[in-house]
Amino acid sequence: MSTFEELNLSKDSLKIIKELNFKEPTKIQEEAIPLMLSGIDIMGLSQTGSGKTLAFALPIIESINNANKIEALVICPTRELALQINEVFHTLIKYRKDLLIEAVYGGSPIENNIRALRKKVNIVVGTPGRIIDLLKRKALHLESVKTIVLDEADEMLKMGFKEDVEEIFKYTPEYKQVVMFSATMPKEIKDISKNIQKNPTIIKINKEEMTVKTIKQYYFNINGSEKKQALLNLLYIHQPKSALIFANTKRMVDDLYEFLNDKDLKVSKLHGDMAQTERTRVLNNFKDEKINILIASDVVSRGIDVNDIEIVFNYDLPQTREYYVHRIGRTGRAGKEGIAYTFVSGKKQLNELVQIAKETNSNIKEGKLPNKFEILQILSDTFVKNIESKLKDGQYESYNAISKSLLNKGYEASHIINVLASMLINFNIKEVNGVKSKEKLLSGKKTQLVIFLGRKDKINANHIVCALVEETGIDVKKIGKIQVNDTYSIVSIPVEYCKDAISSLSKIKIKNKKVKIEEKKK
Ligand code: ADP
Ligand code: MG
Repeated sequence: MSTFEELNLSKDSLKIIKELNFKEPTKIQEEAIPLMLSGIDIMGLSQTGSGKTLAFALPIIESINNANKIEALVICPTRELALQINEVFHTLIKYRKDLLIEAVYGGSPIENNIRALRKKVNIVVGTPGRIIDLLKRKALHLESVKTIVLDEADEMLKMGFKEDVEEIFKYTPEYKQVVMFSATMPKEIKDISKNIQKNPTIIKINKEEMTVKTIKQYYFNINGSEKKQALLNLLYIHQPKSALIFANTKRMVDDLYEFLNDKDLKVSKLHGDMAQTERTRVLNNFKDEKINILIASDVVSRGIDVNDIEIVFNYDLPQTREYYVHRIGRTGRAGKEGIAYTFVSGKKQLNELVQIAKETNSNIKEGKLPNKFEILQILSDTFVKNIESKLKDGQYESYNAISKSLLNKGYEASHIINVLASMLINFNIKEVNGVKSKEKLLSGKKTQLVIFLGRKDKINANHIVCALVEETGIDVKKIGKIQVNDTYSIVSIPVEYCKDAISSLSKIKIKNKKVKIEEKKK
């Protein structure tokens, strides 16, 4: 692990990094920054939340030397992302007053861009459509561009921007640095890379190093008709300051919004049909915690960087494993713990999730839905806390007439409070239990257990299988090779059963002998 100081960055950059309180570069930054500074073409593959923006923004800022021309262009798929990258640049150039950055994206008046581009802009960040528009109007000049970055390249191609990107490249000089960042490398990426890059150096940050490590992942198998209520119950129990809910369709986004909005939760939604200003406003409100719950579809949320999201809900099962990783990557950022909840309905979807778990190397456990009493307890506690804080604030004298008139009529204070509470909190909670799976959702990874009982203890493989099945509920077929030696035995089981097996087997006896058991060290 290197430090930012070792990355050959200017004093100004190091100063701002310090102010941002970034202690050390992330993996992708550590690898990409020196390579970008050297000017070669790069293909950077790493997950959402791994710090790609800084990985290209810092070297771009270092590399600008002619104050009069556009020297760097960052192309990204959505307006939100363009705005966000723009914001990062603006933060980073705090001590570089000589630099100008312009963000260009559809949905905002093009005249503003045209006017801004007449000034001496150094860096342009934008979406493909608007960039082309400006090029055709001769308002944007890329003849002096030295570095082009394609951020979220896979998403850009998925959204059908291939031709647009290639068109943009026609306006750029032959010798330049082309850097692509992507979470995945499908064939389309390789194809376009051949057209626009020269021998790119590939940087790949392993899945094991994904931020996903810090995310606790759970799934619930729930009938379609009960999903909304289950969502509500989970929101009640967690009372998150920030939760992001993903649905697969715009209609479902609307639908969920109606449902939750009705329940007095601070909720908003985000989808492609909304005007730009509206989308920006919603996102800012979410960042500022003026709203606590944001419902979104995949397209608009890609790349959006909102920190400290406590819970991500996959209300609908994501359609691909990439979406799964991207969605849940909105939480658990920069080492913080996050929770990801995924809803599935029925065996087929459960199997799809099993597949996603395998491919992303994630451990997704079955979650427990809260029961009615747990929810009521939380709702009551919160109500009491709210009253106490209002009592401290002391802004309630103007209501004196109400309490006086009720108390004068001889009602008891406790009864009055109960009535008020009943008017404000709905105790009519519908419990959802979901469909419990007998088995765990497995990632396919195995581990070995050592059981300190063997032939000398008259133990055979069958005894071990029976004990495991009985104590952990594991499917016999999931138990791997069993090796019985003189004084100990070794059994291979899915990692997901390891803890369970150790804790439950160490409480029982096999062949009347206490079981000593541990995971085999690798
Ligand atoms: P990506 O583009 O890979 O999804 P981002 O560039 O949006 O990731 O960064 C994700 C988050 O991590 C941002 O909130 C960013 O401020 C933070 N971050 C970036 N670099 C560092 C670092 N070196 N140390 C701590 N946090 C960082
Ligand atoms: Mg990004």
